[in-house]
Formats: sequence, structure tokens, C-alpha cells
Amino acid sequence: MAFTTPLAILPLPPPPAYLPTLPKKKDEYFLASQLVRNQEKDLFLASPNQPLPVDNRLAWPHLHLIRLAYVDDKWRRLCWHMRGIEKLLTPANSDYPGRNVYACHYLFSHPECDCKYREVDFHYERRVRKKQPLVAPTDWIIFPAGQGPEWLPPRRGRTAIIKRIWRQPDEVEEDEPTQAIDGDDMLVVQRVPQQAQLSASPDRPALVDVMHQMRTIQQQILNVRFNDEDRVQLLAHERASKEIHQLAVNASLPHVVTAEAVDVVLHNRVQLHNPRPGAQEAYAAARRTIVDEDNYVEEEWDTRLHQLLRWFRTDGLTFALPFIRECLDNNNNLFGAVVQDQIDRLFGALGRTPHDSKPARPEDDDGKHRRLDDAYQFITTQAHEPIVERFDANAKRAFLRDILALQELQDAYTAYQFPWRKILDAADEVIHLISATFEARDFDLTRLSPEMFKKGMQLVNEVYVLDSRDRAPWSGMGSGFASYGWTSR
Ligand SMILES: [Zn+2]
Repeated sequence: MAFTTPLAILPLPPPPAYLPTLPKKKDEYFLASQLVRNQEKDLFLASPNQPLPVDNRLAWPHLHLIRLAYVDDKWRRLCWHMRGIEKLLTPANSDYPGRNVYACHYLFSHPECDCKYREVDFHYERRVRKKQPLVAPTDWIIFPAGQGPEWLPPRRGRTAIIKRIWRQPDEVEEDEPTQAIDGDDMLVVQRVPQQAQLSASPDRPALVDVMHQMRTIQQQILNVRFNDEDRVQLLAHERASKEIHQLAVNASLPHVVTAEAVDVVLHNRVQLHNPRPGAQEAYAAARRTIVDEDNYVEEEWDTRLHQLLRWFRTDGLTFALPFIRECLDNNNNLFGAVVQDQIDRLFGALGRTPHDSKPARPEDDDGKHRRLDDAYQFITTQAHEPIVERFDANAKRAFLRDILALQELQDAYTAYQFPWRKILDAADEVIHLISATFEARDFDLTRLSPEMFKKGMQLVNEVYVLDSRDRAPWSGMGSGFASYGWTSR
């Protein structure tokens, strides 16, 4: 199916604000390894229309504010709700296809409570490896009714890290004993007359001011598309992260939070939530693969490659370009240096595995994970190069060429206007020249002109590493890629 309008390329989110190193003072950050499991379990109702029990604190509107930077030293993958993240696979038409974006736990189930945590997997991995603390958000984190964090700081010193607030509903009588109010880790905001509220919070303007400053700095760095290789931008990002962190550490948060302020924060919150009906099923259906793994072990290689191609054109589409880049990047001898250079120049970083990170693989599909690993091994191994198996080697090239020829793949990147026809012609040219040269050499030298044969042998020597110790790059030929005289697009 061809698209009438080009698909936009979706930019992945920049890394969330983080500090490049641990702050010197231990009281400016907290660690995942310090967290303890929250003993209060989520409140689930038997029927969706049943009202929540008013006398249970968990049923009240609940929000918290994270006050320090957070270091994930346990690979816990938590969002600012201190709950496990949601994982989203990036689509083919994104600037990093085939990766995962981690997002807030409530992204799908309670989007109105989204804490806006977003992080690409390789940014996350780098941050955890380097023990870099995330700068806490400036906003209050709101929970769906009846739910709370999965992890909490230890009770001792908890309020220094997280300020938790429950807003007591109007229906609860003030003298009614309230269940489970048992620590200094929480504040209950009660409705009191407006005048009393205002006079009780002299700190508020200062806090609002600080929050405003923090947000302004955050916006400045988030407005620019993040580029990992831009040193100037990296420094600006680091500086801004430090500034936000410092503001948060220095700000003295008011101990009195007015009911009115909480009302503002909770304004759009839905009281009782259920995941959208059918959303889970639709999600699963969209990802269903037509390629099953039942006979994988018995499959011949041509079947395996064919199956992989079928998967690439359906729900494996986002992994197609990363797979080609992976194969070509580590093997300069598949198509020869000229074609390889042109592909590198055309695609740039698109589909390329970022430095230091794992190749693009579906994490929730072991079968396809294995297919990609095995196919990568099969295609890139040099063991096939002895003369007897050279036709296999050309079949491998043809397979990579067939991926590039997928209409679905080309549609995904229409925004870039890649010259697919020329890329395919160049790949075909290499494949044909190699087999023609072998035929001429082995059976009948008159099948190729002396000039063509010479070019063919140059290419063969270049792509077959066993006998190409001191080769010069193939200079291109005929009507294909190199002869268009491109330098770059
Ligand atoms: Zn969250």
C-alpha cells in the first residue's frame, strides 16, 4: 500500500534532564537501592461504578512531589510515579527505528496522570551505567484514585525525598477517625476557609516563582532537538540540568499546602479509572506476527530469510532498516566500498545502532530475536567465502537487497526522499557483476569483455576478504550507483 502523503519522521524524545555526575552531597540525591516496597496495595473495585470507600485514605486524591535527583542503580526502570515503566517500540518512521521508548506507567491506562517521563532505551542504559542522577520534575505527580507508588524511600527521611499529599474529601467529617494515617510521610489537606488558607502559606509566592524558573529552564533545553554528538548542546543541557537541580534543592517547600492549590493540580483528574475497553486487545492484535516459530529449527536458510522478509514487511517493519545497517556497518565486504559509502552517506545515523548500545531487537519476542541474531551471523560470517559456497554469499547480498526493495520500508521513509531505485540498481549491479565474473573465470572468459572482467575481478577481490589483503576500493561501473557521480544527496 503506497501512502499518498509522506509519513512524517517522528523525532524521539531527548534524554530527560540528568546530572552528568553524582552530586557531592549525599542529601541531594536518592538511590533505587534505598527504596522499599510500598506496603499499601492498590485499591481495586469489584465493579467500575461502585464508589470508592471514603474512609480509606487510598481512595482520596493523592499526589506527590519528588524533591531530589534520582539514581537508578538497580535497573528498576521506574517513572516519576515510582512505578514500573511502559515500553513503546519506536515505529519505522522515527529517527531511531526499532528501539524502545520508556514512558510513564500510566501512559495508556490513565493518560490524565501521565508524569511525562520519556526516555529512549540507549539513553537510559548509558545513564544507569554511568550512575547519572535524573533531575526530578518540577511538577506534582498525580495518581489515579486508589493507587500509589510501588516503591518508596525508607520511612526515615522519606519527606526529604518525597512529599506526599492526600486531599481529604469534603464528605469526611473532621472528627471521623481516618484509617491508616500513621506517619510523618504524608500530609492531609483539609478544606478550610479561603482566608485562613491564604494567611497560612506565606511561602507560596516564592515557591511558585521557583517552579516557574525551573520550568523555564526545562523548556529551553527541551525545545531544541537533542543531538548526542553536539558538544555545545551537551554542555548546555548539563548546565541547565544542574541549575534545575540546584533550584529544587534550595527551594524551601511550604509545609502548608492549601486545598485550593491541590484543587488546581487535580483539576483534570478523573475520579475512577479503568483501562480503555479493548485497548489491550487492539495493541496485541496490531503486533501479531504472521510468521510463527514452530518449525524454525528445521527451516532451511532460504526459508528463514524469506520468513524474516515477511516479518519485516508487517510488524517487524521498524527492525528492517536497523538490520541492514547492522549487517553493512560491520562488514565492508558485502557490497564493496563505493556502494557502502554511498549508503552510509544517504542514511546517515538513521537506523544505525548508537554507540555502546545493543542492536535493535524485539524484547518481547524471543523467536524474532533469535531469527535476527542467527540471520546476522549467517550473513556476516566469512566462513562461506571459499569458492564452493560463493553463490550463498550472493544470496545473502540478494536478501539485503530485497529488504531495501520492500515497499513498506520505502513508504516509511518517504520524508527523506531516498533514491531507492538507484540504491537497488547499485546493489543489483554488484550482485550481477560478481556472478558474471565468477562464471567467466571458471567457464568461459569470453562471456565478459576484458575491461568488464577486470572490474569484476577488482570487486571480487575487494568483497572476498580471504584473497584481498591489499585491495583498492572498487571504482564502480556501468549505469549504476557510482556512475551517477554522487557525492552526497
Ligand atoms: Zn509516571
